Amino acid sequence: MKIICIGRNYADHAKELNNPVPERPIIFMKPPTALLVNDKPLYYPEFTKDLHYEAEIVLKIARNGRHIQPEFAAEYYDEVALGIDFTARDLQAELKGKGQPWELAKAFDGSAAISPFIPVSELPDPDAIEFRLAKNGETVQHGNTRDVIFSFNDIIVFVSQFFKLQMGDYIYTGTPAGVGPVKIGDTLKGEIFTKTGPKPLLTCEIK
Ligand code: MG
Repeated sequence: MKIICIGRNYADHAKELNNPVPERPIIFMKPPTALLVNDKPLYYPEFTKDLHYEAEIVLKIARNGRHIQPEFAAEYYDEVALGIDFTARDLQAELKGKGQPWELAKAFDGSAAISPFIPVSELPDPDAIEFRLAKNGETVQHGNTRDVIFSFNDIIVFVSQFFKLQMGDYIYTGTPAGVGPVKIGDTLKGEIFTKTGPKPLLTCEIK
């Protein structure tokens, strides 16, 4: 399986990091070894002094496809989860400054926290998924996918021109404003708002 991630997909987050709003999706990938399943701690990596959380809605690809047309894109996922795209922000800045790829800062072991998946049918509006991340009990990110620059369907259409999507692939769809650092001892908890209210899905302690 592969983990495809979208950078800067919310204008307010692009702004907070002083990045321009992209004209096409910014794509990077993480290897399967980056996955951090729910309730597993993340051990603070030694190569960074500025580890950041980025809460994101994650799609699970339900069928194989390439060159997917817009009218069929929605058929390629039927479950979503809450994920955290952990980022070594200091290392990323250094790599960006040198015009180098981001993998060292984004694709390290444990950098892709993932909650259990829930069916899209549990959501009040699949085009406006509300989600929240709290650090040590205080809300730090509160996003809604209606604010994305590139919709889930846009992403599936774009990505599948380059990479065959396969059943079981994950797509991290970008983070809203409010990203920030974690330190050892912090606990992150994430929830997605379903038809019956906010559903706690993700817990991750930094060790
Ligand atoms: Mg991200």
